[in-house]
Amino acid sequence: MLRPLLALVTLVLVATSAAVLPAAAGERPQPGPSVHAHGDDRLELRRAPRVVGVARIGKTLRVRPATWKGEPDTVRYRWLRDGEPIRGATGKRRKLTVADFGHGVAVRVTARKAGHAPVRVIASATRRVDHRVRAKRTVTYHVETRGRVVADLRRFRTQAQQTLDDPRGWRGAGVKFRRVARGGDLTLVLSEASRLPSFSPVCSVEWSCRVGRYVVINQTRWLHASPMWNRRSRSLRDYRHMVVNHEMGHWLGHGHRGCPRRGAAAPVMQTQSKGLDGCRPNPWPTPSERRLPRFG
Ligand SMILES: [Zn+2]
Repeated sequence: MLRPLLALVTLVLVATSAAVLPAAAGERPQPGPSVHAHGDDRLELRRAPRVVGVARIGKTLRVRPATWKGEPDTVRYRWLRDGEPIRGATGKRRKLTVADFGHGVAVRVTARKAGHAPVRVIASATRRVDHRVRAKRTVTYHVETRGRVVADLRRFRTQAQQTLDDPRGWRGAGVKFRRVARGGDLTLVLSEASRLPSFSPVCSVEWSCRVGRYVVINQTRWLHASPMWNRRSRSLRDYRHMVVNHEMGHWLGHGHRGCPRRGAAAPVMQTQSKGLDGCRPNPWPTPSERRLPRFG
């Protein structure tokens, strides 16, 4: 008969809690209405909550709950990214996404008990969120130009490396790219459009191309994307991601792929500069492409 009675008391306390709870955490409990009669039932943290799990994209972190002295009425969870609340992340578990990459993830636990100050405590993951997988292979490359280059070469180097480091890209499949001063496994070229056929007769002045160790980015495309891409109102930055991922994908051994179905994200190995066949523009390898890294 104890349980129904307790439930009733709890209901009464909840009904009055808004008035008696101090706003800020850490304040001493306020004396509640006389009916509460709590002498030794103060809410105190006994064992702190902990975040357990592997801090990698795609993995799930979970909270090992706290234990309390004095049972809380409610315990709420709010996940934080670098201290800022993550929208909608209020469960005991959180599957890490690309947006978490490189950030510190923590959970704020708030325990409430009617008539007492809420107790808030933050538990953090032990390290920043890392790539989905460890680097299985490191590829070295250096950068060259061909013909008259008017694009900002420093920006080209920086943005190409950003694409290669991005967890949505081939790094997410376990391939790490490192730029070197000379030599390396491949040469990334920024080329004047008219020089493309000098790499191979199959390379067109219109597009980028990969020939042997040369991954050649067409300067006109780098500067202006493609008419098709621009008609879809996609950004130049995304085009640059796409073209670097696509041509590097060839170097890694991927051939072209078609649109799998209408409305799907285009595989990065689809020739998206030319047409989409009903797919949506997509600058990054799709999950199925990431699962199939082949090395050239
Ligand atoms: Zn291609």
